[in-house]
Amino acid sequence: MNNLQPTEELYKAMGIDKDVYEFGEAIIRDLEERFKSIDENAEYNQLKVIKAMQEAKVSEACLLGTTGYGYNDLGRDTLELVYANLFHCEDALVRPQITCGTHALALALMSNLRPGDELLSPVGKPYDTLEEVIGIRPSKGSLAEYGITYSQVDLLENGDFDYEGIKNAINERTKLVTIQRSKGYQTRKTLSVERIGELISFIKKIKPDVICMVDNCYGEFVQRIEPTDVGADMIVGSLIKNPGGGLAPIGGYIAGKKECVENAAYRLTSPGLGKEVGASLGVTSSFYQGLFLAPTVTASALKSAIFAANIYEKLGFFVAPNATEERFDIIQAITFNKEEGVIAFCKGIQAGAPVDSFVTPEPWDMPGYDSQVIMAAGAFVSGSSIELSADGPIKPPYNVYFQGGLTWQHGKYGILKTLQEMKNSGLIRL
Ligand SMILES: *Cc1c(COP(=O)(O)O)cnc(C)c1O
Repeated sequence: MNNLQPTEELYKAMGIDKDVYEFGEAIIRDLEERFKSIDENAEYNQLKVIKAMQEAKVSEACLLGTTGYGYNDLGRDTLELVYANLFHCEDALVRPQITCGTHALALALMSNLRPGDELLSPVGKPYDTLEEVIGIRPSKGSLAEYGITYSQVDLLENGDFDYEGIKNAINERTKLVTIQRSKGYQTRKTLSVERIGELISFIKKIKPDVICMVDNCYGEFVQRIEPTDVGADMIVGSLIKNPGGGLAPIGGYIAGKKECVENAAYRLTSPGLGKEVGASLGVTSSFYQGLFLAPTVTASALKSAIFAANIYEKLGFFVAPNATEERFDIIQAITFNKEEGVIAFCKGIQAGAPVDSFVTPEPWDMPGYDSQVIMAAGAFVSGSSIELSADGPIKPPYNVYFQGGLTWQHGKYGILKTLQEMKNSGLIRL
């Protein structure tokens, strides 16, 4: 008896046909080397996390929370030291009071910019939700309302930095430069940490005192170094993405230069109070445990993304990143060219989820979008996109954006479910 048999049986019982299963197995056989190098990366980053925790002397008492004002919250203060150690920087703010990634980015910007300053994005248009923070789309409380101007230099057609344009855009009012690591929902490529480093060096040569901030969402632990290792003054991210490891139920972080982090703390709580207040309630232990798991969870998400890219590229669909290229974030885009493909893919992800697998996702008119959007997520933490999730706007070219997977085994099953859905809808033939 070989022990694959029962697994195959169970897949069958869970709605995966034999030909779908075998299509997946053939792909996986060719990914062995790739997965090995991802595991080696995870090993390195796991050690990095443990080292940061040991150096901060994390103790059992750190896992308890505080209430009320939260003065002398040992767990919170130590965790912030862990983040500072991990990212090789001076200080960090890691709080459940930071509600999401957009909030963390808004906080970092609003606390470090003053009226009359200018913000520069040298990598093109920032993430959608930041348009309202900056005031590119008019919004209450935007930076624009406070007299902070914005300038943007797009990437060149071939994806390179427009060094000439960036040089011309930097002026005496340029105070902060925002660099988005992940492509988000754009077609450009995600930036490697090395490329971010080159950009920062160039900018600092022109204006040494400018603050270089990196939107680190979806990038943590994908590589062995982080933007703070190559000169970033501040990195910002969400705890319901990579660094929360799927366990953090809420939260965001800002890590970097002491002054930048302090500014953010005074803005988050109040001038005069800063980091001293902010009870951690009951979430501290999940922040620690989530960070501890984050390197292997990120590795699972990467394997899932690579598996999806290889499956759908083989079936003739355009995938970005492609099946073989190096990855710098956990997002996978697949172009289906028709609505039915986007819907079938999302249905598959939903049907493969541990939570809400019995519901059927439908396109809906989501506020803030110019087309209908379909989303699939059967997550333990609502909206968590380090868990297996997919979404797509119902408009040409009918892209699906897929990310996450707390375990590779779940990622694999979810993607096989999408393949099965596509097959059932007559959209592919294996
Ligand atoms: C997710 C994300 C954000 C915003 O985070 P939310 O938690 O959704 O508010 C910002 N930038 C990038 C690149 C992201 O991926």
